[in-house]
Amino acid sequence: MRNTNNHVSKIGIMGGTFDPIHYGHLVSAEGARDEVGLEQVIFVPTGRPPHKFGYNITNPRDRYLMTVLATASNNYFQASSIEVDRPGFSYTIDTVQSVIEMHPSAQIYFITGADAVLDILTWKSVEVLLNICYIIAVTRPNYQLDKLWDKLGDILHCPQKRILSMEVPALAISSTDIRRRVHEGRTIKYLLPESVEDYIAKHKLYKH
Ligand code: NAP
Repeated sequence: MRNTNNHVSKIGIMGGTFDPIHYGHLVSAEGARDEVGLEQVIFVPTGRPPHKFGYNITNPRDRYLMTVLATASNNYFQASSIEVDRPGFSYTIDTVQSVIEMHPSAQIYFITGADAVLDILTWKSVEVLLNICYIIAVTRPNYQLDKLWDKLGDILHCPQKRILSMEVPALAISSTDIRRRVHEGRTIKYLLPESVEDYIAKHKLYKH
């Protein structure tokens, strides 16, 4: 996946619910940055995900602020509230188009979890999305990529081969497990940055 073309500016958008953000996300973004040669990675916590309507998700402002804290020490990373601030449901196509407006000549790479990419055929304007950006599907160790390629076989035959994959061992960490641990009063130390751990404790997130 390594690309040595230095003439085109490449920007990563790291999309996720980030409830909460953890080291698996940070290692994935840094790995993609290094592999592809991204100039920057913009972390975009979802505002109101259409596929999670009715789910109990931490409010967008808390998820965004945890993302700001987690990304602060990496010069290549920045956090964006673009989806948190945009009214209505959050669609990836709208986010990618906004980033393209800000960086018209850049090549865009949307990075997210492989399980989310599995459902990409249901996303709004998926054909357009695959024409205007690459997708990097990051996987946990031992993830059966076959199910991804089986499901996406049709669109993978598109000439540009727009969907790439990257295995990230650190993704053994999961937000679901962290929320469960906090709820059960167990430790979450070393699974996420200390600043995020402190934020969770201070705001009593995931207790109920
Ligand atoms: P999700 O269903 O909460 O997550 C699916 C799996 O992927 C989980 O195992 C999750 O682990 C992992 N994951 C999620 N984001 C990741 C990331 N950035 N890096 C590494 N692993 C990640 O997925 P989601 O967060 O709701 O959605 C992912 C992205 O797809 C978001 O940006 C969302 O807006 C976009 N999306 C768009 C549409 C649309 O446009 N219609 C529909 C669905 C999703 P953790 O729980 O540990 O993060």
